Amino acid sequence: MVVVMSIAASREDIDRVATFIAEHDARAHISQGEERTIIGVIGYQHRVQREHLATLPGVEKVIPISKPFKLVSREFKKDNTIIPINGVKIGGGIPVVIAGPCSVESEKQILETAYMVKENGGHLLRGGAFKPRSSPYSFQGLGKQGLKFLQRAREETGLYIVTEVLEAMYVPLVAEYADVLQIGARNMQNYELLKSVGRIQKPVLLKRGMSATLTEFLMSAEYIMSEGNNQIILCERGIRTFVEYTRNTLDLNVVPAVKSISHLPILVDPSHGTGRRDLIEPLSLGALAVGADGLLIEVHPRPEEALSDADQTLGEAAFKRLMHLINHFTAWQENYQQQVAGTAFA
Ligand code: PEP
Ligand code: MN
Repeated sequence: MVVVMSIAASREDIDRVATFIAEHDARAHISQGEERTIIGVIGYQHRVQREHLATLPGVEKVIPISKPFKLVSREFKKDNTIIPINGVKIGGGIPVVIAGPCSVESEKQILETAYMVKENGGHLLRGGAFKPRSSPYSFQGLGKQGLKFLQRAREETGLYIVTEVLEAMYVPLVAEYADVLQIGARNMQNYELLKSVGRIQKPVLLKRGMSATLTEFLMSAEYIMSEGNNQIILCERGIRTFVEYTRNTLDLNVVPAVKSISHLPILVDPSHGTGRRDLIEPLSLGALAVGADGLLIEVHPRPEEALSDADQTLGEAAFKRLMHLINHFTAWQENYQQQVAGTAFA
C-alpha cells in the first residue's frame, strides 16, 4: 500500500508514519515529491493495518496497490519518471539514442565509434567490457581495461557511458567508470545483482530477460527500487519465440503495456531484438511510434570485423541514415500529437 501525506504534513508526521510501518515489520520507502510526500509500505505487510495508518496525523489517504510490484507502479507514482543524464532526459519526451559497439575491443575501436556516435547525434555511448557470451570460447570482453578505454572515450567526446555489470561483486568497479549500469537479459533475475545496483545512486538500464513476462520484468525493477535507487530505465530487447528468421522477437506490445502500469521509462533495442542489420531501421521507427523513450543501437566503424554481434551491427552510413530518419520521425510525431491535442480525439 501507499500512504499519501497531505501537503501540510510536517517532518514529524512523516517520521511517525515511517516508525509505525517499521514497528509493524514492514519497510517505509519515502519519496519526496514537489508538493507532497508519498510513503510506500514494502516488504511484509500483514501487520500494518491500513485503517490505523489512515488515522495518523498528516496522512491524507492510504491506497492499496493491487499489483505485485508497488514502487514501480503508476498507482504509486502517477507522473512519468524522467532520468536526466548529461543534459538529456530519458523519459522526457525526446527519444534518446544510446549507441556503440556490442563489445569494447580496443582503444582505437571505441574512440572511433564514440566519434561516430557523437557526430551523428547519438546521446550516450554503449559498449560491453564484461561480456555474457553463450560460448566460453567466444570473446569475453576486455574487463577493467575496457572500462578504462570507455573512460578515455568519455573524456575525448563528452559522451556518457553505458556498460554492463555481470556480477554483484563488480558493481563498485563498474560504477567507478560507468554513468549508467546495464543489467543484461541473462541477469534480469539475478536478485543479488539487482539489490547491489539498487544500493548505488547511478541510473540502471534493466534489460528484459529473454523469456520474462511483463510482471517478472517489473518485479526485477522493483528489486532495484526497493533498495533505494529510483533511476531505472527499462529496455525491451526481444524475447524467445518459435521464429527462426530473427534472433529474437521484438515485443513492441510491451512498450505501451509498460506505460499504462508503470511510471518508468522504456527503451527498445532492435539490435538484439532482431539480430539482423536490415531490420534495425523499420523496428526503430516502430518502437518510437509505439512510444519508446529511446533506442539502444549497436554500431561499429567496421561492423563486419566486430568481435561480437556483427550481424546486427550498423556501420556509419546506416547509422547516419537511421539518425536522420529518427529526427524526421520525431518532428512528425510532435506535430501529429499537437494536431490531435486540439481535437475531440485528444
Ligand atoms: C548487449 O547489450 O550487448 C547484450 C549482451 O544484451 P542482452 O543482455 O540484451 O543480450
Ligand atoms: Mn550485443
